[in-house]
Amino acid sequence: MDLAAVIETLGRLVAFDTVSARPNIALIDWAAERLQACGARTQVQHGDEPGKANLFATIGPEDRPGLMLSGHSDVVPVAGQAWSSDPFTLAGRDGRLYARGSADMKGFIACVLEAAPRFARARLRMPVHIALSYNEETNMRGMRQLAAQMATAPVRPAACIIGEPTSMQVVIANKGSAGYRVKVRGHSVHSSLRDQGVSAVECAAEIIVFANALQKRLNAAARHDGFEFPHTSVHVGRIEGGTAHNITAKDCEFLLEIRTLPGTRSADVLGEIRAYCDDVLLPAMRAISADTAIAFEEIFDTPALDERGNVYLAQAIMPLCGHLSAGRVSFGTEAGILQEIGVPTIVCGPGDIRVAHQPDEYVEVAQLEACSRFLDVLGEHLARGELPLGG
Ligand SMILES: [Zn+2]
Repeated sequence: MDLAAVIETLGRLVAFDTVSARPNIALIDWAAERLQACGARTQVQHGDEPGKANLFATIGPEDRPGLMLSGHSDVVPVAGQAWSSDPFTLAGRDGRLYARGSADMKGFIACVLEAAPRFARARLRMPVHIALSYNEETNMRGMRQLAAQMATAPVRPAACIIGEPTSMQVVIANKGSAGYRVKVRGHSVHSSLRDQGVSAVECAAEIIVFANALQKRLNAAARHDGFEFPHTSVHVGRIEGGTAHNITAKDCEFLLEIRTLPGTRSADVLGEIRAYCDDVLLPAMRAISADTAIAFEEIFDTPALDERGNVYLAQAIMPLCGHLSAGRVSFGTEAGILQEIGVPTIVCGPGDIRVAHQPDEYVEVAQLEACSRFLDVLGEHLARGELPLGG
């Protein structure tokens, strides 16, 4: 392992401004070229949005399932954050490397790209797949697209490790998350005639009160102590509506978020809220005015990662990364999407999730070193073709 080369590669990666709202194709093309140079077979999968693409590369035999190492290429914005140095220029201080994406998750990608030539030289019996996705931080469209292609491919990966920052601990479960825009349309009249109007603001409030009551029922229904908040959660993070104090509001819009425990589907939780709207609220609104409405628009919906699907994989990987216990996290990852198509997936990568998305995000050099060592050990096992990933 050449740590200086890993750091140099990380410097190149963070210099690509791949904030999710912007194209990532320059990074993808650059990584594809690098991987091709060491003999990998690469495929760039273009997304619907211009300038967005996934990369899928294979090193080793193509006729059998391999181990996929996966990272998202996009990063969260830096706008409004107070950085001590340019977030798109890697800055080293006291054993830490600062830049947007250094932890989440270009540090992992740098380790993987730098390990690729060693994988190529090792004559792997079991192949390595390297996947870089787009839009993980917004709607996970990239991984959805990649997974859809994988699901119909003749050979799909035997297992996957997603290198989100977990301080190199194996994470076997995460919550699912879904976001919806709820649009309430009322009927506008002068508020002195309020019984002839329908206030969209007040109807939205009714839905939110119902969601809060639903939270209490969810708390009583299921509990998983592996998560800091041990229940499925429903949350309203933003609301906007109405125009004046003396007009019943024509429109009100709010953002609803559902974070699900493994085994719970966000669609089922949303279904309860929809049923309340359809059966109770909307008939009352329509009785006053026929042009009232409630619409739910899905912004993203990512399934949870269920540890029941990756027991063998976790047991095989834990001794190799130097941690003999597994964890669970409350933040969303792409892992549940891969699990849905039958690819056992765990999360394990360098850096601390607590600095991700923050100003002065950093990864410790020691973490990159630990990750590179882990990849080398993985490579030795893949060369011998003896990683017991199935089950
Ligand atoms: Zn991430």
